[in-house]
Amino acid sequence: MINCANPLAQFQAHQSEIEQAIARVLNSGNYILGPEVNAFENEFAQYLGISFVAGVANGTDALQLALMALDIGAGDEVITVSHTAVATISAIEAVGAIPVLVDIDPETYTINLNQLNEVRTKNTKAIIAVHLYGQSCDMDLLIQFCNDCNLRLIEDVSQAHGGKYKNKMLGTFGVISCFSCYPTKNLGAIGDAGLVATNDIEINRRIKSLRQYGWVERYISIESGRNSRLDELQAAILRVKLKSLDHSNEKRRILSCLYSKELNGIGDLILPKTAQHNEHVHHLYAIQSQHRDKLAGHLKEHGISPGVHYPVPVHLQPHFKGNIRTALNMEVTEKISLCELSLPIYPELSHADCLTTIDLIKTYFSECA
Ligand SMILES: *Cc1c(COP(=O)(O)O)cnc(C)c1O
Repeated sequence: MINCANPLAQFQAHQSEIEQAIARVLNSGNYILGPEVNAFENEFAQYLGISFVAGVANGTDALQLALMALDIGAGDEVITVSHTAVATISAIEAVGAIPVLVDIDPETYTINLNQLNEVRTKNTKAIIAVHLYGQSCDMDLLIQFCNDCNLRLIEDVSQAHGGKYKNKMLGTFGVISCFSCYPTKNLGAIGDAGLVATNDIEINRRIKSLRQYGWVERYISIESGRNSRLDELQAAILRVKLKSLDHSNEKRRILSCLYSKELNGIGDLILPKTAQHNEHVHHLYAIQSQHRDKLAGHLKEHGISPGVHYPVPVHLQPHFKGNIRTALNMEVTEKISLCELSLPIYPELSHADCLTTIDLIKTYFSECA
């Protein structure tokens, strides 16, 4: 079965280097927040062109610690999108703040900037900009809005490692930016991992304290903190993967071009678009069709297992329904949940397998739809 992501293939592509890295850690006797984490934090900071990176346990924690470091908590409101991994909203909830969700742009699937004024109140403290599926939000307008309204901008770059806006790395625009390195992400660990990046020395100090019991030094807590550390094994593996991140993203881009060339004009398909100033890193190849479920069934019968991101918008999920504030009009989010299909895309996917998927889609529309 070919899935929409394939972390095993990525391990196999780097197997001997990863096994060497693992052996190095096992034999070092240092397993948590040691030299590998330090080196990886510095290498990723250099890659982004930012001053500081802190490794944490996962992407949700990265967002939660970012909010804590900005002193955002009970009674505060944080604006973000409903069309995202639920983790973005869980992090806001975890600090006791109120998630306020807006719709997405129908072309880029990123935050609809026209609704920000509608939902903003005197309690709004921050916006979390989610660079969804691998492409950037409209950063110029977003930064302008945050400056005008005195809001903090947090980037959720969990789906866009290595992506750019106007030639500048995503993760370098916000006061803090957060990354998940869940195994299927563009930069994925072999387990959980997360990263927090900032140019602010004080925020970096806060994050490093908050990730370890609020320690200012070993055994001395000066504030309420967590245990959200990155371990040496994951850091050592991420160091291997970081070296080929740009190359991996280039392979995703080539596959995405192939899909877009071959699927253009087929059936009722709506294909992904890249906004003018964006360098897209194609975390997902998200198409839309009114025949989504039947098309997915047809692909599955033939060994291709596509994904759906996401089947139920956050604001309509049982835990949040009727319990969360949203913009009045959430129609793009609600529509895409019924039509979206994520086709297989990962750096190791062969052209042959990509073409098989394309042929199956063409057959579906010529015979079944
Ligand atoms: C994966 C993801 C997260 C959460 O990351 P975890 O490492 O699973 O906690 C947050 N936001 C977005 C947009 C994601 O895709």
